[in-house]
Amino acid sequence: MAEFSPKQFRKQFPLFSSTPLNSSMIYFDNAATTQKPLAVIDEIAYYYQTSNANVHRSSHQLSASATAKFEKARLVVKQFIGAKNDKEIVWTKGTTEAINIVAQCYARPLLTKHDEIVVSYAEHHANIVPWQQVAEHTGAKLNVLPLTSCGRIDLSSLDSVINSNTKLIAINMISNVTGKRNAIERIIAKAKAVGAKVLIDGAQAIAHERIDVHQLDCDFFAFSAHKVFGPTGAGVLYGKEQLLTAMPPYQFGGEMIKKVSFNGTSFADLPFKFETGTPNIAGVLGLAKALAFTKQYQASMAIYEQQLIDYTHSQLKTIPQIKFLFDEKPDIPIFSFVIEGEHNQDVAAYLDTRNIAIRAGHHCAMPLMEYLGQTGCLRVSLAPYNLISEVDSLIVALKGYLAAGAGHTSVQMNVSTEQ
Ligand code: PMP
Repeated sequence: MAEFSPKQFRKQFPLFSSTPLNSSMIYFDNAATTQKPLAVIDEIAYYYQTSNANVHRSSHQLSASATAKFEKARLVVKQFIGAKNDKEIVWTKGTTEAINIVAQCYARPLLTKHDEIVVSYAEHHANIVPWQQVAEHTGAKLNVLPLTSCGRIDLSSLDSVINSNTKLIAINMISNVTGKRNAIERIIAKAKAVGAKVLIDGAQAIAHERIDVHQLDCDFFAFSAHKVFGPTGAGVLYGKEQLLTAMPPYQFGGEMIKKVSFNGTSFADLPFKFETGTPNIAGVLGLAKALAFTKQYQASMAIYEQQLIDYTHSQLKTIPQIKFLFDEKPDIPIFSFVIEGEHNQDVAAYLDTRNIAIRAGHHCAMPLMEYLGQTGCLRVSLAPYNLISEVDSLIVALKGYLAAGAGHTSVQMNVSTEQ
């Protein structure tokens, strides 16, 4: 395996050389979205420059070529996540839409007031609110798995929370706040024992771990392109063919039909019955390119990421005022903490004045913040284009902020608390 060079890797991301401000920027908000390599940007531009046409509609050559690329992208995803066949890959806008499809088309028609849905305290709102809606409409009960002090789903609670009434378990593989990988294999095994289906929110995991949905034997898997060097507005719902086949469509209109008449409409086969209207063709091509790009570096990136985790953790620990939200090092480079006596927004706004982008807020995980007795936290999230020297700059800035009397530094606050 060729040695990973973070500096060379970083050069592939044009944003970091686009303006003097961006060149000196330290981007530590990668859990919200990653930057895009030139290969992905070029793929999207090339599509519009050379092959732009609607897919699955016209018989002319341009459309046939766009359709061929579009369907080839599905095969790239199928291989990347180890699905059995390409019918199991449904294009979505992202993780949120993928989860909503399962909530509305699998759970809502099936569940009754005797059934139960299980999530964990460490879920993103995207993996809570859709299930609350299902529970509200069906009368089903929503149960929540507790966490250990490390922020992982507490496996000792599985037997008390998951039972024969559980019909669906929706959990993250890696949380966008804890940075910890859950033992989803154990939870999938427990689900099987009680006959429940499992949806894995793979939004954070997709960029950090090789995924094999077939080996995992999960029923559904959701992820977004933009968390793995791809464009926004494109994502994937993987579902087992048998389950997707039995589910009604999500939205209705063009392209998801077999035949329409005023006597009734029949729907297209998988996966098209879930892909209504003109899809995000350029986004899908960008997504496939991003996965091909990631695959190329996957093994070597993982080694460097571990170095980033170890170094950042050890350096943050040198600041005594920092209180980590969770015990132990994270599994991916996401660090969530508060600084004693300081407002999260003040710290983030100060760092922004030093051209360091981190996030402050609830990170779309308000129930988790409540569970931890916090209103929010600071989150530093790194990617393999981040450098050890950038971690050093963060530590210097944080120490400088605290030495200067911290909260006394008056900074204008304009920081979103979303995601
Ligand atoms: N789940 C997790 C764990 C996430 O990190 C995110 C994005 N922050 C989502 C779901 C939602 O993803 P998207 O906004 O791309 O739909």
